[in-house]
Order: sequence, then C-alpha cells, then structure tokens
Amino acid sequence: MRAKAKSSSTPYPIWVEGEYITEPPIRPSDGAIRPVGHYIDKGGYPGANVYEVDINTMCRQTDAADRFGKPIYEQDILLYETAEEIGYFIVKDLETTVDIVNGEIIEVGDLDTENIKNIGSMVDYSDFVEGIRYHADNGLEIPYIPCLDVQVTALPYFKLKCLKCGQISLSCAYMAKHKGCGGYYTVDFATKIYRERAKEKELA
Ligand SMILES: [Zn+2]
Repeated sequence: MRAKAKSSSTPYPIWVEGEYITEPPIRPSDGAIRPVGHYIDKGGYPGANVYEVDINTMCRQTDAADRFGKPIYEQDILLYETAEEIGYFIVKDLETTVDIVNGEIIEVGDLDTENIKNIGSMVDYSDFVEGIRYHADNGLEIPYIPCLDVQVTALPYFKLKCLKCGQISLSCAYMAKHKGCGGYYTVDFATKIYRERAKEKELA
C-alpha cells in the first residue's frame, strides 16, 4: 500500500512517501535486523531507504494527483482555483473529499484535478478547516492561500490579522488562530499577491 507518514527515528519528523511495510528487510549498511513495526520504504536499493514512522500520521495515497502531478493522500488540503472562484477540499479517505466552504462531498475520482493544487496536510495544519469555516460562517471573504508554508516558495510572508484583538503578525506558515487571545486570524500576504501572478511565479 502506498502511503506517506512522518518519520519517528530521525532528529526531526519528516514526511516519508512510499510503500507501507511492517517487516522491513535487513539494513544493508550494517546488516541490522529491524523489529516488526510501522515503516515506509521509499524504494531504491532494497532496505536502504526504509524509515520507521509514526502510525498516527499515516495517510494512504489515493489514485489522484494535482495539476502538478503531486500525489493526493488522505488528509491532504486541496486548493481549487479557477479564474472565477476559489475553494478548498479536504481528503477524508481514499474515495471522498469534502468542500469545506459549502460542505459538499465530492468523490476523489470526480475532482477537477486540472484546477487543483495540493497545498499540504491536516496532519501539519490541524486547524486549517476551523480557520476557513470561521470565514465561511461569518460571511467573510474566503482567504486565498496558494501554499501553507512560504519558506521554499517565491511568495511573501503571511500577514495574519487577529479578528478579535487586531494584532498583526508576519509568519512563514499558515495559522488559524492568535494564540495570545484565541481570536481567529484573517490571512493575507505581506505584499499584495494577485492570483494570476502567484500562479505564474509558482510555475517559473
Ligand atoms: Zn488576538
């Protein structure tokens, strides 16, 4: 079974994508026998790229991929974007996604993947749905979030404004709430980005 999960035996947890296995082959570098457990094998030389993973973070791979060919896994957050509208889907399981703005259920196989970008996982951004729902429920404009961590992109930092106390902070990663007061953030960017320009930059 193809899946991704966070490593549990590296200095920092990292996403590992590959084949989920429970009985790993002998480690070729030193001949070590590893115990039965939860592992993901990234492939390549047998046994060389096997990572022990935290089973609680495991997400199975669906048959779909986004417009850049990036695979779509359970719990992924998908940005739907056309010239007319934006929306967000979350992947519930191998067959089902939910439009978090209007609650509509869409089969993974029916996704308009040409207009979809996989922007991250709820494993890393557990409060994303809550943050977007707050905007939808209160009649606020749904924020445009073409990625959840700007560090490796050409995008400017997030400008987060607390809707409760008015505090403004810059952040490289998306956050739904201001920890200081518990208010929700509305999300913008430190310099204005336009949807078409953001798209071009991303492709450049
Ligand atoms: Zn606040």
